[in-house]
Amino acid sequence: MTSKFTATSYEFAEYADARNVIGGAFVEDPGADLIDVMNPRHGKAMARVPMSGAAAVAAAVAAAREAQPAWARLPIRDRAQVFYRLRELMTRDLEELTWLVSHENGKVYEEAKGSVLKAIECVEFGCSLPNLAVGQQLDVSRGVNCMVVHEPLGVVAGICPFNFPLMVPMWMLPQAIVGGNAFIIKPSEQVPLSIQRLAVLFEEAGLPAGIFSVVNGGRAAVEALTDDPGIAALAFVGSTAVARQVYARGAATGKRMLCLGGAKNHLIVVPDADVELTTQNVVDSFTGCAGQRCMAASVMLGVGDVDHIVSGIAAKAEELRLGEQMGPITSDAAAARITDYINAAEESGVKVLVDGRGQRATDGGYWVGPTVLDGVTPDMPAGCEEIFGPVLSIIRVATVDEAITIENASEYGNASSVYTTSGDVAREVMERVSSGMCGVNVGVPVPREPFGFGGWNDSLFGHGNITGWDGFRFWTRPRKITSKWAAQKDQTWMS
Ligand code: NAD
Repeated sequence: MTSKFTATSYEFAEYADARNVIGGAFVEDPGADLIDVMNPRHGKAMARVPMSGAAAVAAAVAAAREAQPAWARLPIRDRAQVFYRLRELMTRDLEELTWLVSHENGKVYEEAKGSVLKAIECVEFGCSLPNLAVGQQLDVSRGVNCMVVHEPLGVVAGICPFNFPLMVPMWMLPQAIVGGNAFIIKPSEQVPLSIQRLAVLFEEAGLPAGIFSVVNGGRAAVEALTDDPGIAALAFVGSTAVARQVYARGAATGKRMLCLGGAKNHLIVVPDADVELTTQNVVDSFTGCAGQRCMAASVMLGVGDVDHIVSGIAAKAEELRLGEQMGPITSDAAAARITDYINAAEESGVKVLVDGRGQRATDGGYWVGPTVLDGVTPDMPAGCEEIFGPVLSIIRVATVDEAITIENASEYGNASSVYTTSGDVAREVMERVSSGMCGVNVGVPVPREPFGFGGWNDSLFGHGNITGWDGFRFWTRPRKITSKWAAQKDQTWMS
């Protein structure tokens, strides 16, 4: 059992070291090195996490394989009951989970709470599955009935990034577990602590031992999960470079794979856009979670004369209170990477309208303030690479057509939005951008449940989306049963 996290403010607090969860028990991994879990606001270690590898994965797979058949035999309604109870427990512990996410990840309180609430929304979708997963049936010929049922795959696994410690795991867990699988999760080694609490809540909700396992670690654990023949399907969320590798390696073993990668999201802003709505939305989008969201605005394509909107964005970004309205960057290395992008853009002649370099909200911790770069070109690193920080790169263009051409040339395709009061412009952009999740006057166009989450191009490797009904289909396989109970007197070739 891992104790409760008792912090109720940003004040630094230590927490118990993370452990693996195998066969329903928290277990040490004596063979694994322990690394620090840093609180990014304070730059201090709040706990440690084992960097496990193949041995822990093999043990988790063995325990999961033993537990899964009995779980799969339960009716889906019974499996969903665990998620009804989990929803109540997560709601009961909302404050604790919020502060834990905030401490290990750096999100400000409201953002952390929003991410836990969104995780709960994913749990609710899991609760609804018995009503959705009714399958189909049809008399395909006289006296011959065909029906489809959704069967679990067996033991499945998920690998998660640092930026949403609880929410991204919940993109996977409800559909997979309600679908009858046993699940092994490998959280980011940077944020393994919320998952420790989740394991306790699963147990309290009545999930049988072995159906939810945790293996901590980094690359070695991921590769062991990818290679293990006992794992039938694997989902990954993280950067594009790793997503591509994991996808190829897992697919080579015959696994069903879905790997979500990075992003470079474009917001197209035309002069007729509502000034107040646009300025606030754009700032919220590129500074929310300190820009460490795969749905964050990264490039603003300003069409024609949008100086009035750019100056409004700059003014709002300047006003943002670091530490209260925007949190820290995940690590020292990430803060240095973001600063390097800003330096390189400035050296190329870009105007730094709002400069977050050197800003900090605490003495320790990793900080970069909101930054607005004006006059970026699409070929500059700040114009085409994922910065993953609170930096808005403004590219000036003459026409909507030019804006769409630049968006289309991006290797990524997670999100795109347009800011306009013209239905014609909105429709044109929505028809032509090369992104999976699009917004009209919406800065973070996340398709909430029950819609599926997933991008296009190098933002997603595999087929389908990770949330919603697509998620259920990913974690299950359809069985078609064709039945004929009575001998047909008037047989045809189809009978
Ligand atoms: P990351 O790719 O560095 O790490 C993701 C996971 O992969 C972690 O669990 C990590 O331990 C593991 N990993 C890291 N390097 C590995 C390697 N070489 N081989 C095997 N496994 C490895 O990503 P991150 O820094 O944790 O998260 C940020 C990235 O995730 C950004 O690119 C962001 O856009 C992306 N992201 C995408 C989505 C989406 O839905 N598309 C959602 C959230 C985050």
